[in-house]
Amino acid sequence: MIKHNSTWEEKILDNSILDKETYEKMFNLASEILCVSYFSGRFKYVNSAFNDVFGYSRDEVEELNIFSIIHPDDKNILNNAILLAGEDGQNVVNLQFRHKCKDGNFKWISWNLKFDYAKGITYAAGNDISNRMDLEHTVYEGNEKLKAIIENISDALFISDSEGNYTTFNKSARDIFPSTFHNFNKIGDSLEENKYYDISGNLINHEDMPGFRILRGEKILGYRVMKINKSVTFYDIKGGPIYDDKGNFIAGVQCWNDVTEAVFHEKILQGQFDFLQNMIHNMDLPFVRFSCLDFRIMDINQKAINIIEGINHEMNSIDIVIGQKYTDIITWFDKDDMFKHFKMIKEKKERSYQSHKKLTVFGEKIFINSLYQPIFGLDGEISEVIVIVIDVTKEIKAKLELEKHLRMQEEFFVNISHELKTPLNVIYTTIQLFDLYRKNGSLIENQDKLEKYINVIKQNCHRQIKLVNNLVDLSKIQSGFFQLYLSNQNIVSVVEDIVQSVSEHIKANDISIVFDTNVEEKIIACDAEKIERVILNIISNGIKFTNPNGEIFINLLDKGDNVEIEVKDTGIGIDKEHVDNIFERFHQVDKSLSRNAEGSGIGLSLVKSIVELHGGKISVDSILGEGTIFKIELPARTVINEKVTEQIKTRSNKIEMINIEFSDIYAV
Ligand code: ADP
Repeated sequence: MIKHNSTWEEKILDNSILDKETYEKMFNLASEILCVSYFSGRFKYVNSAFNDVFGYSRDEVEELNIFSIIHPDDKNILNNAILLAGEDGQNVVNLQFRHKCKDGNFKWISWNLKFDYAKGITYAAGNDISNRMDLEHTVYEGNEKLKAIIENISDALFISDSEGNYTTFNKSARDIFPSTFHNFNKIGDSLEENKYYDISGNLINHEDMPGFRILRGEKILGYRVMKINKSVTFYDIKGGPIYDDKGNFIAGVQCWNDVTEAVFHEKILQGQFDFLQNMIHNMDLPFVRFSCLDFRIMDINQKAINIIEGINHEMNSIDIVIGQKYTDIITWFDKDDMFKHFKMIKEKKERSYQSHKKLTVFGEKIFINSLYQPIFGLDGEISEVIVIVIDVTKEIKAKLELEKHLRMQEEFFVNISHELKTPLNVIYTTIQLFDLYRKNGSLIENQDKLEKYINVIKQNCHRQIKLVNNLVDLSKIQSGFFQLYLSNQNIVSVVEDIVQSVSEHIKANDISIVFDTNVEEKIIACDAEKIERVILNIISNGIKFTNPNGEIFINLLDKGDNVEIEVKDTGIGIDKEHVDNIFERFHQVDKSLSRNAEGSGIGLSLVKSIVELHGGKISVDSILGEGTIFKIELPARTVINEKVTEQIKTRSNKIEMINIEFSDIYAV
């Protein structure tokens, strides 16, 4: 036999029975776990992979029992397998169970087992499948979770196949049709017993219901339906078709959200909103809603438009103003002022007030107070700002009027004390002079001066009387006790007589007084004495404020229904600023105590009251530096029950009256 060098495979094959050492080497190279164990559980043989996977050394394996390292829940699997493997014992059984490793962790091993009943031995080859099992477990758990989520989400889920057959209803879906969902197999089945309406209240056709639309490939983003059977329920429906990688329709998903409660709340809110809108639009206060950040007008009522239009005529309707930015419509307004308030609200997040803002609306000055109220959104940020305006013009004007009045009253008291003191001082000084003459025995010697001094005393007494009379009358008028004694008089002679008396009296003053009339007699009801005072007062003012050589014209005109008495002078006139207020109590053009004419500022206010008590009117027209015209209109009517004063009118007391009225013209 020729011997030749053979390959190692040939050598192995030649030597048909391998020795134990070779087997062991081969087994230890394998990545599979190999082991041989007795039915009792003790190990006869394990390879290196066994030691590597489970962590037990060879010596430790000798002490181990297979059953002691199988997970308690899996022990029976092996027992049963040994029992049931089959009589012939030829079948290889594949089983998976968990083994406890040395570190205490369990590993999943997939075993191929073969049982040798004759020898009571199990041959096993296994793979560590822990990773795969973990993954499967995770997927399983994930699926379970997903199922649980789908089952329990509050939205009702209806899933159908491409034919429209329902494959899944979750719990909420079943709850919608508690007694009948078992009968629902296909999309449209529920339509038999329920009617669905859209938000406008129109019945929805079957083919327009979301289920059918999704089957046709449509995506439903938010479709509100109202379901009516025994009760009314609102649902918001979303959903759409699901396609596989190749674009085949695999499922239709509908998601129904019961929004009944929200709809009712919405309705209540809408009701409240409508009510609020109504209130805002009908309320008597100007109101504007601004969006926050860009401050555009979101809503405005007519009252506010009335103000805005008065400032900017183009902004004359709600439609035009809505959407405008505040800076665009109120360029004429103090926008910096408004900006300041908006900024303050944004920074401090609290309301802000503006008081006594002056505006010119339709050419008239008005005063407003404004409240800037922030409105907060759900995120806690300011979503809009409401501005409510209160017209305080009346209050402010009344306040200004009161202040003016108080100021005038103060000035009046200063003035009046001057007016009271001056004549008293003069009288007192003159009396002291008399006393001196008496004491030093020169009374007779100074006799020529005495008449002058006595006149001085008389005239200053008249000033005091005039002042006191005026003060008494003023307070009588104020308290309503001032009385007119009306009798039917020829007004022409009443006025003419007093003018006549005055012109005689003032000859020395170089001012001519001219009376004219278009009628000789005109009987009207009047209190002659009071009318005389009126005429005297106006003439005395004319004299006071007219330079020497000036003229005063008194014209009486019978105008039928009334009588007009005009007193015109060529004096200094009254400037525009004062002419409107000349009839107010205590009003004087020159308030300085050093003014050239004396007076208290009461005269014309009394004149006006007396004329008005007669049912007449008084007006003034004046040009500075040229002169002044007072015009009195008295109604031409008569009275049946005449009341005549008990005072007997003699010429001397008429002169006395003139002296009193004119006392401050010649003040010393
Ligand atoms: P008084 O007692 O101070 O004269 P009046 O009420 O009679 O008070 O007049 C008020 C003011 O009106 C006067 O102080 C004067 O400034 C102004 N006034 C009245 N009449 C005339 C006039 N004819 N010409 C110029 N100013 C006048």
